Parts: sequence; structure tokens; C-alpha cells
Amino acid sequence: MHCIVFDNDEIWVEGINNDLKFMFNNIPLNGMYEEIAPDNFVMESSASPSHNAFKINLRQIFESCGEDAFHLTGRARQLLHWRKTHQFCGCCGERLQRHQTETAMHCAQCGVMYYPRINPVVITLIHRDDSILLARRNDPNFNHFWSIVAGFVEAGESLVNAVRREIREEVGIEVKNITHVSSQQWPFPNNLMIGYRAEYASGEITPDGEEIAEARWFTYDNLPRIPGKVSIARKLIDAFFSQNR
Ligand SMILES: [Zn+2]
Repeated sequence: MHCIVFDNDEIWVEGINNDLKFMFNNIPLNGMYEEIAPDNFVMESSASPSHNAFKINLRQIFESCGEDAFHLTGRARQLLHWRKTHQFCGCCGERLQRHQTETAMHCAQCGVMYYPRINPVVITLIHRDDSILLARRNDPNFNHFWSIVAGFVEAGESLVNAVRREIREEVGIEVKNITHVSSQQWPFPNNLMIGYRAEYASGEITPDGEEIAEARWFTYDNLPRIPGKVSIARKLIDAFFSQNR
């Protein structure tokens, strides 16, 4: 039995630098836990799972252990977060039970099933000739770097319409030739990032002043500080400049 162990937002690991281990063998499962693959579990514990374990965050897992490790631990974290936030039925208030065969929480009282929640977010690299549009957010936690435009998909909306609306709302321009590029999970706590590329069509850049403080065109030679390699934003930026510079 192998188990990933979280303590809230942090994950327990042991080892050094580029040889960190985040799977612990044969530790007792207790409290809240979930099976992430056959014989592989995730659980929450504030107590150290071994005598020399310490805690890091998921972005550090990416840096130390690579992309596959980030996606496995990200999935584990999403499932654990789902279990923590689905203990009672939203319809009748009854305590939920783990469904026997499906990855779902079940209300025995009124029959409602609660599956892991995934929030879709569209994120778009907008380009104009050899420049891309980067924006700096108003939020003090995120205003030290520039990134591409992103936003949550609204109920009833198609992905492409969400791309158009977010860009119009946040930076005031219109785009054309919207194409899907790739997607990746973003387990902070449960987003699915759906990546697009779109070409500038018309309008003047007008930051909304609420979510976006500043937005501008940048070429490869004058890029500001951009997101780290763990993010799909960075992958979309790198992919564009590998073809256009
Ligand atoms: Zn219920």
C-alpha cells in the first residue's frame, strides 16, 4: 500500500533536493482518505508519516520531481479537497457516505450523488504579429508577474464564447481564429485549465481596472517576469515563441 499524505495545502515528503519521495509505504490509513489508483491512496494528516519527513507545496513537487509527479499529487489533492468539502448533503443536510463503486459521495436520505467538482477555466494566448498580450493582475498576491488572460467558464456558456467574453471584459479587445491548444489540471484547488490561442482582431487594449491592472503587447525580446514552467500559461507562451521569433 502506497500513500500520499497532505497536511492542508502542503504535502509530506522525505529525501533531498532532486530526489524527493512523496509516497509512503504501509502507513495506517486513518481519518479522511481516498483511493487514487489501485493500492494507491491519499490521506490527510498533520502528524509526520515518517521520522524524517517534512512538508512542501505542490509547485515545489513540480520543480523537484517533474511534471508526472505534479499531476499525480495534484489529482490526489483534488480528491482529498473534494472529500473534505462534501461531508453533508446540500439538499437535505444528511451526512454523506462514500459510494461503493463510483468516485462519488452519496446521500442515503435523498439519493443525490456528489462527484469530484472540476471548475473549467479558459486561458488564452492572444497574439498580434510577433507580439503577445500579457496582463498584470490587481490582486497583490499575483501582481508581481505578467500572464495571459484567463477566466472561469460560466454556466451555460461554450468554451469559445467564454474565451471571447473574458478577453472583452478584461482587456477590451476582440479576437479571431480561436484554436484549442492543450489543457491541464490546476489543483489550487480544483480547476481544469483549457488553453487556447487567438489572434488579435480589433479594439484598443483597455484593462478593466478591477481584475486587470495593466495589459500590453510584448515581443520575445522584452518579456517581463512571466509564470513558472509548471503552468499552462508558460507552456502556451513558450510554444508561441518557439514558432514566432
Ligand atoms: Zn440528501
